[in-house]
Amino acid sequence: MHVDVLVVGGGPAGLIAARDVARHGHEVLVIEEHPEIGEPVQCSGLFSIRGLKRLEVNLPKRAIAGVIRGGRFFSPGGEKFEAYSKLDRAYVVERRLFDKELAKEAAMAGARITLKTKAIGLRIADKAKVVLESGGKREVVEAEVVIAADGVRSRVASLLGLKTPRKIVAAAQVEVESARVEDDVAELYFGREWAPNFYAWLLPKGEVYEVGVGVRQGKYPPRVYLERFMREHPIAKQKITGRSQVEYNMGGFPVASPQDTFAERVLLVGDAGGFVKASTGGGVITGGISARLAAKAACLAIEEKNFSSQFFRENYEKAWKAELGRELEVHELIRKIFDSLSDEELDALFKIAIEEDIASLMVQYPDTDRPYDFFMQLLEKERFVRAIERFISLEL
Ligand SMILES: Cc1cc2nc3c(=O)[nH]c(=O)nc-3n(C[C@H](O)[C@H](O)[C@H](O)COP(=O)(O)OP(=O)(O)OC[C@H]3O[C@@H](n4cnc5c(N)ncnc54)[C@H](O)[C@@H]3O)c2cc1C
Repeated sequence: MHVDVLVVGGGPAGLIAARDVARHGHEVLVIEEHPEIGEPVQCSGLFSIRGLKRLEVNLPKRAIAGVIRGGRFFSPGGEKFEAYSKLDRAYVVERRLFDKELAKEAAMAGARITLKTKAIGLRIADKAKVVLESGGKREVVEAEVVIAADGVRSRVASLLGLKTPRKIVAAAQVEVESARVEDDVAELYFGREWAPNFYAWLLPKGEVYEVGVGVRQGKYPPRVYLERFMREHPIAKQKITGRSQVEYNMGGFPVASPQDTFAERVLLVGDAGGFVKASTGGGVITGGISARLAAKAACLAIEEKNFSSQFFRENYEKAWKAELGRELEVHELIRKIFDSLSDEELDALFKIAIEEDIASLMVQYPDTDRPYDFFMQLLEKERFVRAIERFISLEL
C-alpha cells in the first residue's frame, strides 16, 4: 500500500495533523494501536480557551465538563495565593470526547483511520517504508512522509535514533465524587513529600473532581503518592471528602524542550517531539500546534517533492521555533527553577510572591501557553529575582 502521509498514533497531535493534511487534499492514513480512539484516557483535559481556538477544533458542548477562571497555589508549608478573574480562561474537557471529535474532523476531511494497528519498523529509502502489525499480520506501507505522533515513548523516534526529551514525569490521577472545591478554580499543591519534582492538583470537572499527582525521581510509583496526598495532605484532605473513585488513570509526559523533531521523510509532533509545556506538563495545545505546522510542512514537501532533512529544518523546525520556541524555553526555565528549589526555599519564594502580588501579574498575563510576557514582567520584580538567584545558580 502507498499513501502520501502516514500518521503513527491517533492521539490529538496525530489526528490534528491528519485532519490538516487531508484538508490540503493529500491522502493520509492514521494508524492507532488501541481498539478505540480516546481510550485509554491519560489526561486531565485542562486546555486554555485561546489554545483551543488556535487548534480550530469544533468542540461539542457536551465535551466541556468545566470552566476554569483562576488558579490557587499552595506551597509545601501551606503558604497560598490565588490568581482569579471573572473571565473564562480554560475548559476542563472530556478527553475521550475531544479525541473522538478530532477523529471525526479528520475523517470528514478525508483521512483514513485504522485501529488495532501498530508501527513496529521503519526504513527510509526512496520512500518511508513502515512495517505495520495488525492481528498478528504484518504489512509494509510506503509513505512519502511519516508524521510520528506516537506519544512520549515514541517508537518512531527510537527506531531512527532521534533524541527526544528524557526528563519524564509519571502521573496518576483519579476522579472522585464530592470533593469540596469551588467549581471554577484549579488548585496546585507543591512539596517533595507529596509530589517530588512536580506538583499535585485538584480540578473541578462537572459532577466529579480530578485529583492528580505528578512525580519525577520519586521513591515510589505515582499511585502511592496520589493515595497519600488524598489521605494525608493537611489542606487537600479536607476537600477530598468522597472516597468513591469514579475513574483512575496514569501516564507520563516529557518536561523538557524538544530536541530532534525531524529527519529525512519524518516529522515528530506532540509528546513524541517533546512539544509539552515543561512547567505544567500540558501538551495538547502545544502538541496540536506542532501537528498543524508539521501538516503544512508535509504538504509542502509533497508539492515540491523534497523530503530531505534540510527541507524540514527550513520548513518545520524554523516554523515551530518561531511559533513556540521562546515560549517552550520559558516553560523549561520555570521547570528548572522549581526542580532546583528545596521545600523551604519554595515556601520563602511563595511569601515573596504574595508580598509582591505576583497573582495580579498572573491575571494580567493569563495565557499559560505563552508565558514569555508574564516571565519578562516577573523579572522586573527585583526581590523575587534576587531570591531565586540566592537559592539557585541560574542566570536570569
Ligand atoms: C495524568 C495526565 C494528565 C494530563 N493532563 C493534561 C492536561 O490537563 N492538559 C494538557 O494539555 N495535557 C495534559 N497531559 C498531557 C497530554 O495528555 C499529552 O500531552 C497529550 O496526550 C499528547 O498528545 P499526543 O497526540 O502527542 O500523544 P498521545 O495522546 O500519547 O497519543 C499517542 C497515540 O499513539 C499511539 N501509539 C503509540 N505508539 C504507537 C505505534 N507504534 N503504532 C500505533 N500507534 C501508536 C498511542 O496508543 C496513542 O493513542 C496529561 C498527561 C497525563 C499523563
